[in-house]
This record gives sequence, C-alpha cells and structure tokens, in this order.
Amino acid sequence: MSSPGMPTLPPAARVILASSNLKKLRELQRILTAAVPGLHTEQVISAAGIDLPEVVEDAVTFEGNALLKARAAARATGLLAVADDSGLAVDVLGGAPGIFSARWSGRHGDDDANNDLLLAQLADVPDAHRAARFVCAAALVDPRSGVPGAEPVEHVERGEMPGILLRERRGEGGFGYDPLFQPDGEMRSAAQLSPEEKDAISHRGKAFRALAAHIARRLPPQSPQP
Ligand code: IMP
Repeated sequence: MSSPGMPTLPPAARVILASSNLKKLRELQRILTAAVPGLHTEQVISAAGIDLPEVVEDAVTFEGNALLKARAAARATGLLAVADDSGLAVDVLGGAPGIFSARWSGRHGDDDANNDLLLAQLADVPDAHRAARFVCAAALVDPRSGVPGAEPVEHVERGEMPGILLRERRGEGGFGYDPLFQPDGEMRSAAQLSPEEKDAISHRGKAFRALAAHIARRLPPQSPQP
C-alpha cells in the first residue's frame, strides 16, 4: 500500500517493527517466521532507513509506550506494525526503574552507569530481598480494521522474566542490566546465556510469541506474484 506522504517501503514488506534496533528485528523475525506459516524473514522489516515520525514516549506504562510506537508506525506506513517497550522492575524499589530503565542514571542508554547506580542502591539489601523481573509489552496495530471508518485494531501482550539481582556483573553477552540479572532456575546471569537460551525464557520472547498468534490472524493475503 502506498499513497502520497507515505515512506517508500521494500516491496516484500508485510510487518514493520517500530524500532531501528537490529537485535530486536532479528529476534522478531525468528519468532514470527517460526509462528506464522508462509511468512518470510524479508517480509518483516525494521524502521531503519524508513522515515518514521519521531514518537514522544510519554505514556506511564510499558503497554502505553509500546502502543504509541506501534500506532505511529502503522499510521505512517499502512502496514501491520509491532513495537515493544521493556524494562527492569525491582521489588524492593517498588517496581523501579520500570519505564525509566534506559535512563535510570540520568543519561539515556548508558548501561554501565545504570548498572553502577542500581548496584549502589541495593548494596545493603540482603539476598532474600533482591527479587526483580524484566517486563516487556509488545503491541500490534493493524491500520486496516476492515470496517470503513472504524478505529485500527490493537493488541498488547505482556511478558515477564523473574529473577534476582546479583552483587556484581557476570558475563559479557546481552545488553542493559543483563550482567546483574540471574533468571529464576538459572545459575548464570542473563549476560551468560546464548541469544537462543535467552529468547526461550525472556520477557521479550514471551511477549512477541503471544503476539504472533494475533499477527498470523491479521496478516493480509499476499498479492499474487507478477
Ligand atoms: P527498550 O524497551 O528496548 O528501550 O529497553 C529499555 C531499557 O530496559 C533498556 O535500555 C535496558 O536498560 C532495559 N532492558 C530491557 N530489556 C532488557 C534485557 O533483556 N536485558 C537487559 N536490559 C533490558
């Protein structure tokens, strides 16, 4: 679908992820192509190189922010749009950093500073009270509701990965708070898991897999090849 003012899309595109993060795109492609018969990797695209409008993430929940991003991408492209919003919720901090996870230390995306601050805040907290969870809300917006004049169709799914916070960094993989987080049932930190091991138990893996069923149902029929 293309109309004046719409960005130019790759001809195969059927689902857009409202993020330029290549790791998230690969994860979504793995999950969706496994869950949706007939869907190919190149049909799931990211926002990289596509001129999407800037979204102000001013909702106060993971679900709200994921929906803001997916709505903007659906509106701008006319495609089925997927977005996620995620973070770490620490019990003893009342669920913080939560939606502020990426900028907990004040500088957006400074993983090292965020981890240092969290370690300092929990320095005196005994092991029994170091429970935390990663949370992910994954949103799907279908701009074509199928009914003229009707609102777009929206779904949001939440995934969680419970665990405990360690007292020092462990492992080199992953990103964000992974080196400080030991998932329940694991002896390793999330930064010591392979990407596939993490996908299988992660908040994002769970949320995206739950969304896949809705995507499969709403995927428009493919146009016949010329
Ligand atoms: P975003 O939703 O990808 O922007 O993630 C927000 C922030 O939450 C990231 O910058 C990380 O600090 C944290 N976060 C979310 N998911 C993970 C994860 O799987 N591992 C480690 N940190 C994460």
